[in-house]
Amino acid sequence: MLIVTNMMQNETIIALEQQYEVGLYPKRPLAIVRGEGARLWDAEGRMFIDCVGGQGAANLGHCHPAIVAALQTQSSHLISCPEIFPNDQRATYLEELADALPFPARIFCCNSGAEAVEASIKFARLLTGRTRIIAAMRSFHGRTFGALSATWEPKYRQPFEPLVPDFAHVPYDNMEALAQVVDDETAAVLLEPVQGEGGVRPASPGYLEGVRRLCDEHGALLLVDEVQTGFGRTGRLFAIEHSGVTPDMMALAKSIAGGLPMGVVALHERHGVLPPGSHGTTFGGNPLTCAAARAALRALIDEELPRQAAEKGAWLLAQLRSLEAPVVREVRGLGLLVGLELKQRVQPYLGALLERGVLALPAGPTVLRLLPPLVISYDDLGTVVAAVAAVLRGT
Ligand SMILES: *Cc1c(COP(=O)(O)O)cnc(C)c1O
Repeated sequence: MLIVTNMMQNETIIALEQQYEVGLYPKRPLAIVRGEGARLWDAEGRMFIDCVGGQGAANLGHCHPAIVAALQTQSSHLISCPEIFPNDQRATYLEELADALPFPARIFCCNSGAEAVEASIKFARLLTGRTRIIAAMRSFHGRTFGALSATWEPKYRQPFEPLVPDFAHVPYDNMEALAQVVDDETAAVLLEPVQGEGGVRPASPGYLEGVRRLCDEHGALLLVDEVQTGFGRTGRLFAIEHSGVTPDMMALAKSIAGGLPMGVVALHERHGVLPPGSHGTTFGGNPLTCAAARAALRALIDEELPRQAAEKGAWLLAQLRSLEAPVVREVRGLGLLVGLELKQRVQPYLGALLERGVLALPAGPTVLRLLPPLVISYDDLGTVVAAVAAVLRGT
């Protein structure tokens, strides 16, 4: 038997990344080397309950057996295949995803959330012949120039100005503010059904319906960014299904392929096809990610993960709301997208949670965000609640 002698320690891994990376990411003081379901292990074998959930990419949990099997099988058949050639995995996935979408659609495949948003902005300009895109304050849509132009946070935007022209931002969840800017020059309104990075803010009932009517009055398109809310996270397969709204386009990524990098734009079929050659990407629709995405979609549906997210999320929200911690201003969420708005900066609490074996995320400076894999057990959720209670009370 081979004895593995070159196991790297946390400190070695951390030091190497620090030496060679360009330094963009504030790093946590541990190196993750293995995952299973909602649990992660560092290089020294310490176990953590994962409420980061791959920043939204791990709805199915880590190393889901169906994803592992799909990758093993497909990687021995075909890994890359540009879209100029039809492919069995891609063709089948397109049909399966189209069947699962809440509206009849054609699908464009790309490789990330920002790319999906980027494509939907370009498609909106192509389809309408107009340029103006309206997005929301506190929105997050990604870091490429088009997606960044739609993103609100000044600290992400300002170092890179000038951005793409003709973007505007209005307060989220506010019909009057939107009605003042949408007009017959508007190409599209771009919104998250629940703002994620912007602090975990679900839209009020009726808001998206109002946005849809306003867009229709002016011939503007409605683009929804479901990169974080899609694939079961909020308790439905897609968050717009909580409303009756049909968008013109939906951007999806993060958990689409069981953790592999992939994004798509679902374009309502009433818009037909786009001009050949007007957009594209080399890795889009490659057989390996399409095989993983097929397995991910099947597992989400077979294991009823959207329903599980709804039930576990309701339980978690109730538990967190009953914590008597004076530092908590508000607990918000939909499904297993949960945020605790604090009266103080969140960063020290994230460190304290890590010490207690729970990995969590911020959403802006004062919101503690919990984004566990939807497969998390009630036992682990209970451990998370106890750890959150202890750190918020400072005990
Ligand atoms: C994460 C995220 C993006 C960007 O996705 P990347 O894959 O990081 O480019 C876009 N929109 C929303 C709502 C997101 O949460």
